[in-house]
Amino acid sequence: MYENLTVGILAIQGDFDRHRYQLDLVGAQPRPVRLPGDLSAIDALIIPGGESTTMNIMIDRFGLRAPLVEYTHARPVWGTCAGMIMLGMKIEDNQADVQTLGVLDIDVQRNGYGRQVFSFEDSLRADLGHHKKPLTATFIRAPRITRMGKNVICLAEYDSSPVLVREGSILASSFHTELGNDTTLLRYFLQEMVTR
Ligand code: GLN
Repeated sequence: MYENLTVGILAIQGDFDRHRYQLDLVGAQPRPVRLPGDLSAIDALIIPGGESTTMNIMIDRFGLRAPLVEYTHARPVWGTCAGMIMLGMKIEDNQADVQTLGVLDIDVQRNGYGRQVFSFEDSLRADLGHHKKPLTATFIRAPRITRMGKNVICLAEYDSSPVLVREGSILASSFHTELGNDTTLLRYFLQEMVTR
């Protein structure tokens, strides 16, 4: 169904292979992005979960910072977990001095839902299109959104906090959905944000 779409996955660090697996499941073409030139041939980009401190370093090492910012202004981007941290504006108590891309008007607290041992999976209801849809969400050292700009829309909450947000052509989730076979959120991204 999505065979005409080539979706880049930032593949310098973290959980990129599971996104490739889900893109295969829905029939889109996955393309790893490691160098600035890789951004030119893709219809959309996913920035995966992982470790934002390492991702921050690798983005500079691969010369990707300005090209990524430019890309987010031109095409749809979805950041999951560490990817969401990288898209946002400010990190609370930013001890590791991670420089975010500053393209999505949210602030976050890293590991705001607890450490690795407190990882959990739960079911959420998200505003995807015309009605609320259930999603299986996995939180692994997930960031907590502490501020949302006025143009940012909350698509799902957990524990009374926003965990899935959208601002124009940027989507960001605190949690992972790519670890299992539930492609609901990926299909929302492709259907509502990439093919429109
Ligand atoms: N806690 C990680 C960070 O700060 C994110 C964890 C994840 O992506 N699952 O980068």
